[in-house]
Amino acid sequence: MKEQLNAIRIKFSQEIDEVQELQELENLRIEFLGKNGALTEILRGMGKLPKEDRPIMGALANEVRDELEAKIERRKEEIKESLLEEKIKSEWIDITLPGKKASIGHPHPSTLTIREIIDVFHSMGFVLEDGPEIETVLNNFDALNSPPDHPSRDMSDTFYFDEKHLLRTHTSPVQVRTMMKQKPPIRMISIGRCFRNDALDATHSPMFTQCEGLVIDEGITMGDLKGTLEQFVRLLFGADTESVFRPHNFPFTEPSAEVDITCFKCKGAGCRFCSGSGAIEILGCGMVHPAVLEHCGIDSEKYTGFAFGMGIERVAMLRYEIDDIRYLFENDQRFTRQFRR
Ligand SMILES: [Zn+2]
Repeated sequence: MKEQLNAIRIKFSQEIDEVQELQELENLRIEFLGKNGALTEILRGMGKLPKEDRPIMGALANEVRDELEAKIERRKEEIKESLLEEKIKSEWIDITLPGKKASIGHPHPSTLTIREIIDVFHSMGFVLEDGPEIETVLNNFDALNSPPDHPSRDMSDTFYFDEKHLLRTHTSPVQVRTMMKQKPPIRMISIGRCFRNDALDATHSPMFTQCEGLVIDEGITMGDLKGTLEQFVRLLFGADTESVFRPHNFPFTEPSAEVDITCFKCKGAGCRFCSGSGAIEILGCGMVHPAVLEHCGIDSEKYTGFAFGMGIERVAMLRYEIDDIRYLFENDQRFTRQFRR
């Protein structure tokens, strides 16, 4: 029996050195120490030994079992440790490598346009004013000299909440609000969303952004209007940009004009961009109608002023050569990414 135990000891020592995985180790444990294991078989045969040999052999067998168990434990620790080392190696990070740059985004082309326009008017001393998108019919139409039969007041052109409230169709109500709260001199611009009941196509959107400006003081003339707007288009579109004022009709200004600028693409020669005309329509303007001043409590005998307005999307489309207004609202990153600076 002593030889048997020795044989087990040797065999076990050889085999345990080969073991590389925890499962193999468990199999080895079962092979020697399990219910039907080699050592267990021997212990079971103990009863057949002469009575006087049993304590010695029993002690020896226990010693072998303890030894085997200890070796298994040790091997288990070794395997775990090497697994951990492998894991550390495989997950090793070189902290000296340059990091991945976080994408922080960039402004939308409409936002870029708004910022540029604000910069230009700030440089000319204009103050930025703000107003609500839900307006009263009074501020949106009546105060601006648009009579009840004016076509733009029609239900099919304007989003009404009820008889007295609507989604503003232009930013002009901000001019009304400014005139109501502030005495001249006034030099302000406002930029914001406006809403009209238009079907969405390449050049129209039921929601768009407008920029309007207003100057009121004693002795303001059409000359001031022309000078200011000529300076504005030169700062925005380039020093060689010429402006042409064409007579137009708006209810809130008299006289009124639309402004065309030299096509910045062909410099006036005519191209696809300006439909061959060499000029691009950019804004509407005029001298504030005396009825508008009077409605807002400003003495139209003492004060005069001018106002102007333009579509932000239109300016953005011109500046960045975008041929469909819908690109500005869809926020497809394949489009917006092109404006990263
Ligand atoms: Zn052109």
